[in-house]
Amino acid sequence: MSKFWSPLTASLVPYVPGEQPKDKTYIKLNTNENPYPPSPKAIEAIRNAAGADLRLYPDPTCDELIRKAAAYYGLRPEQVFAGNGSDEILAFAFAAFFDPANKVQFPDITYSFYKVYAKLYGLQAELIPLDERFRIPIDRFRGTGGVVIPNPNAPTAELVPLAQIRELLENNKEQAVIIDEAYIDFGGESAVPLISEYPNLLVVQTLSKSRSLAGLRVGFAFGSEELIDGLNRIKNSFNSYTLDRLALAGAVASFEDEAYFKETTAKVIATRERVSEQVAALGFKLTESKANFVFISHPSIAAERIFRELRGKGVLVRYFNQPRIDGYLRVSIGTDEEMDAFIRALREIV
Ligand code: PMP
Repeated sequence: MSKFWSPLTASLVPYVPGEQPKDKTYIKLNTNENPYPPSPKAIEAIRNAAGADLRLYPDPTCDELIRKAAAYYGLRPEQVFAGNGSDEILAFAFAAFFDPANKVQFPDITYSFYKVYAKLYGLQAELIPLDERFRIPIDRFRGTGGVVIPNPNAPTAELVPLAQIRELLENNKEQAVIIDEAYIDFGGESAVPLISEYPNLLVVQTLSKSRSLAGLRVGFAFGSEELIDGLNRIKNSFNSYTLDRLALAGAVASFEDEAYFKETTAKVIATRERVSEQVAALGFKLTESKANFVFISHPSIAAERIFRELRGKGVLVRYFNQPRIDGYLRVSIGTDEEMDAFIRALREIV
């Protein structure tokens, strides 16, 4: 607390990001990064952009990148917004579409930034509990103040099938519905094609996970022109240069290397399936993952103990000291070698 803080600052409960240790010797399976490097084409484009032109401001409307992202999904550029990571876009969307007079709904176990943004913008939140198998009960989302659903959900990794997303949209036509597809490329089906039917649907995606560019901070939103206009009003009231020149160059090049994206995504999925079988064979319960992480629980050994012992063996995973999921660990999918080391460490513990 400080006497210089505004009442807003004093009221905030900031997000605590996963650990990013300086010590590179850890096998880092705690923040859902991609274990493979970004496309060599993206790295080369960033190198080429690191020159004299950095004295110039970047393109405030991100035209080239937005054209690429639009073409990828067969959308018009007016239906696409680019931002500094999907976290920034989600912040803009909470500000742009949700009214403090109504309650915004999201699952009770979900990406914890949603709560932080709700607080930041003075919104009331209604948290809808997951069912006993950690699935999102779609028919309970009938709010008046907007809906936010990550698909797949984090940290539970469960996917909501597209037919249920359509049901959600049918039940909520009068307020914005945000589908956060940070992990959609690891086995889900995107809701982007529904944009043409539902002007209140905003789909948020990121290059941080399936495109291995978490360090570059690039995200997108796809939606009707009126929603994208709303995001641009918010963006231009903060800082119209949200994406820098290096990010724009790297992101454009990443879209030009589809083969690399497909290959690395397929590898992560194959490793996830193998690791899921191995942890199940060690006695763990798992949710059905369509993300680049698994959510696992041991019937008799406390998750916190496994977390600490893994850490002692140089393997970092994520433990949530939170009701209902404090028996679980979220383990990001690394390379095959990293996951072999994880399984070896786990065998010494259980
Ligand atoms: N949504 C979800 C569900 C996430 O797990 C994350 C990553 N922590 C994000 C959004 C934000 O990703 P980024 O800002 O890197 O695009």
